[in-house]
Amino acid sequence: MESAISPFLHPALDRLGISDEMRHLMITPYREIKFGLPLACHQGGLKLYTGYRVQHNHSRGPFKGGLRFHADVNLPHFRDLASVMTWKCALVDLPFGGAKGGINCNPHELTCSELEVLTKRFVDRLDDMLGPDRDIPAPDMGTSPREMAWIMEAHSKDHGYEPGIVTGKPLQLAGSAGRLAATGRGVALVTRWACENLGIDLQDARIAIQGFGNVGSHAAKILHEFGAKIVAISNRHGGFYQGSGLDIPGIIKLRNEADDDPALQQIDFSAEEISNEELLALDVDILIPAAIEATIHQDNVNQVRAQMIVEAANLPVTAEADAALQERNIPVIPDLLANAGGVTVSYLEWVQNRQRYCWKESEVNNKLETTLHNAWKQMSESAQSMGISRREAAYTIGTRRVKEAIELRGF
Ligand code: NAD
Repeated sequence: MESAISPFLHPALDRLGISDEMRHLMITPYREIKFGLPLACHQGGLKLYTGYRVQHNHSRGPFKGGLRFHADVNLPHFRDLASVMTWKCALVDLPFGGAKGGINCNPHELTCSELEVLTKRFVDRLDDMLGPDRDIPAPDMGTSPREMAWIMEAHSKDHGYEPGIVTGKPLQLAGSAGRLAATGRGVALVTRWACENLGIDLQDARIAIQGFGNVGSHAAKILHEFGAKIVAISNRHGGFYQGSGLDIPGIIKLRNEADDDPALQQIDFSAEEISNEELLALDVDILIPAAIEATIHQDNVNQVRAQMIVEAANLPVTAEADAALQERNIPVIPDLLANAGGVTVSYLEWVQNRQRYCWKESEVNNKLETTLHNAWKQMSESAQSMGISRREAAYTIGTRRVKEAIELRGF
């Protein structure tokens, strides 16, 4: 499978003027783990799933990255996502490396107790390769604070109380205030700074969001609070459009009362039904892909009519589509920064866990905003001074910091 990240990464590595060996070292994961996960199903019979963890780089701190439960995951996919985490943590200047992993299951088809068994078995298999100073998982697509609590419990069997083993935990279990909304909050903040920079009035802006899970719904909620009009949302079942703006708090309330990811059509509100493809082609000011990878690609990029794209998902715009958008002068705010709010508050959760301390939500949100704004300024200034795109600037800063850490530590 072709690597989705290579076309973004190589130009930044070229700028570092490094040897081929150093380039190879920076691209190659430190370790890749793939293992079978048997599950005795409640309805009888045995199912065999595959667990993955790719630990990409830990020069700047312990491996850090989400766990995804989704039927379509595979090793090359996690290799790309782990690499993204390395450059993202370096760009935001967090003392973490990059990792990613998960299980090739459809969580919507498993019972709660089957998921618990599978999650705890996943932790057992990885054993000492996880730990608060080694590798710290967090939620990603298909996982939530519930799975993080199971991870903490499974790890504690052999290691005692170590809440810093995992972030994104429930508040009652040493989770951090503000973590649940953090990725969406980061998306909203970065969208606001981008609007200021590009002369778009956020109060009047019309926004379409693809993906209404953790990231998409929190981004929608906070952007709605900022005064923007969210005119379209969607999830894996399809979407809705209302030109005058959707009642986001009302929809979130109804969604939470339904189940974890209901068909939006089941939610009782009056708006026009649209498909995910139609959402991407809407005439809006801002398009926020907040679902999966490669949703904007060479075959649909010419239909995009938004003035700006903010990448809430990881790698939602392919390299070919990115080039086409650059040609049309449609700015893309890259995932490395746009969705870094989650890992930033994961870092704050880890710090609180290590200190056995608990900060108020306002304190966490302030620290999040300061951290992201510093990274936003560095990325914007580099893009301007070097005459490159924001994405190129983000990769250039991230790769330079990792290279420096590798060289300082020695081989
Ligand atoms: P989630 O599981 O909570 O929600 C995913 C949403 O996307 C759901 O609404 C789902 O129905 C929808 N979806 C799935 N497949 C789709 C498709 N083909 N078309 C349209 N919608 C589809 O996941 P999440 O945590 O919100 O993550 C979303 C994205 O954000 C992922 O790319 C993830 O890697 C990235 N991300 C998440 C975090 C985090 O803290 N959760 C942090 C950084 C980046």
